[in-house]
Amino acid sequence: MAAFGSVIMPEMAISWFDGSKWSETEIVPSDNLKLHPGAHVLHYSSTCFEGLKAFRHDDGSIKIFRMDRNIERLAQSTHLLALPEFDHESLARMIRDIVARFADDVPAPPGSLYIRPTHIGTEPVIGKAAVPSLTSCLYVLVSPVGDYFAGGDKALRLLIDDEGMRCPPHMGMVKSGGNYASALRPIMKARAEYQVDQVLFCPGGDVQETGAANFLLIDGNEIITKALDESFLHGITRDSLLTLARDRGMKVSERNISVDELLERIAKPGCEAALSGTAAVLTPVGTMIYKGQEYSVGDGTIGETTVKLRQALNDIQWGRSEDTHGWLTGL
Ligand SMILES: *Cc1c(COP(=O)(O)O)cnc(C)c1O
Repeated sequence: MAAFGSVIMPEMAISWFDGSKWSETEIVPSDNLKLHPGAHVLHYSSTCFEGLKAFRHDDGSIKIFRMDRNIERLAQSTHLLALPEFDHESLARMIRDIVARFADDVPAPPGSLYIRPTHIGTEPVIGKAAVPSLTSCLYVLVSPVGDYFAGGDKALRLLIDDEGMRCPPHMGMVKSGGNYASALRPIMKARAEYQVDQVLFCPGGDVQETGAANFLLIDGNEIITKALDESFLHGITRDSLLTLARDRGMKVSERNISVDELLERIAKPGCEAALSGTAAVLTPVGTMIYKGQEYSVGDGTIGETTVKLRQALNDIQWGRSEDTHGWLTGL
């Protein structure tokens, strides 16, 4: 199967801001984008993006999951990067239009159509290192994706890093390209030295998140995860899973958790750890490595609450249980 995100449909929805107004949205070929080499984004990283999914239901209809929340988060990233504001309803229409254009290509569950709205600063002035771009471009790519778990439910290995950080603390809640570039070297180093899948960034001993997913600790009937602050990305999957956990009578504790407390809890039987995000939904963590020592989470395999919560979320996304929170939007 093709790697996640490597198949991009041949057209995209696009709109340009010229400094005073947004252009009419167009559907154009997605194999190139005309940009001045001096464009603000290419020098000063004025870029943000979103990731959401559209699902094919058994009755043939196509539904987009929590689109409003993703649009709000892109607007927030846009604001924090001082990019030009966009109209939320216009972006909603762009997303619906491009998904409708490729409705026939939306895979059936467990596949889906991954949607990638992107907003970049286009002003061709290389002297604007400390000045926002007055012009910008908003576009939406779509990519059919298969079952993330096609290789089975292998639990991940994580390195606990309490020295480095993923990105500057004031940028954590911005879904912006530079943050991922910033985390690459630490992740590559951890993979080479410890054969891990991901790094769990825990600056100063405070458990935060991995390079592109939030971290949840499940201890019996309680879920513990870091409370929202500006230092990390506010995942919509995280929010959805916590909501479903509360619906099921679980205790949800949004608070800081230290590396020491984490290691103490995961040693107990029945404790589970998992990563949450749009791509992987909820992925089990089986092993953590800290200061060269390996720690198993529970018995090192996927836990039953992880399976249950992921299934509950998938059932809503796939139209197989009632959408009680109004998370799905039609085209
Ligand atoms: C996108 C992302 C997440 C997960 O967010 P979702 O809305 O659940 O997809 C978590 N952490 C980082 C750093 C991310 O970029």
